Amino acid sequence: MTDCIFCKIVAGEIPSKKVYEDDEVLAFHDINPAAPVHFMIIPKRHVKSLEACDTSHQDVLGKILLLAPKLAREQGLSDGFKTVINTGVGGGQLVMHLHVHVLGGGKLQHV
Ligand code: AMP
Ligand code: ZN
Repeated sequence: MTDCIFCKIVAGEIPSKKVYEDDEVLAFHDINPAAPVHFMIIPKRHVKSLEACDTSHQDVLGKILLLAPKLAREQGLSDGFKTVINTGVGGGQLVMHLHVHVLGGGKLQHV
């Protein structure tokens, strides 16, 4: 997706503060953090949202969810963290490339 900001981050065309990378997944800090630690985990292959996923995304979705606690621990979130997936306009999604927010390290808004 040529006009997708997260695809541009994956391609290295826009800089990011990287947390983790492998062949399928990238994690980087949110540019406008809502908590002392706030990063997101994305699939490298463009998919618009959770709603656009199908069974071909099952493995990468599982990988992202299992990475969340590992990366949260590595970022110092030893007593827990919040995960958020905004889906579609009605869900407050601003960047239309699936991402899982991981937040913690301070008082978080409930739900
Ligand atoms: P969402 O509402 O779930 O789509 O949130 C999109 C998130 O992407 C927001 O929290 C933004 O701060 C974040 N964001 C937008 N552009 C960048 C960027 N270039 N690098 C890192 N995070 C970004
Ligand atoms: Zn994209």
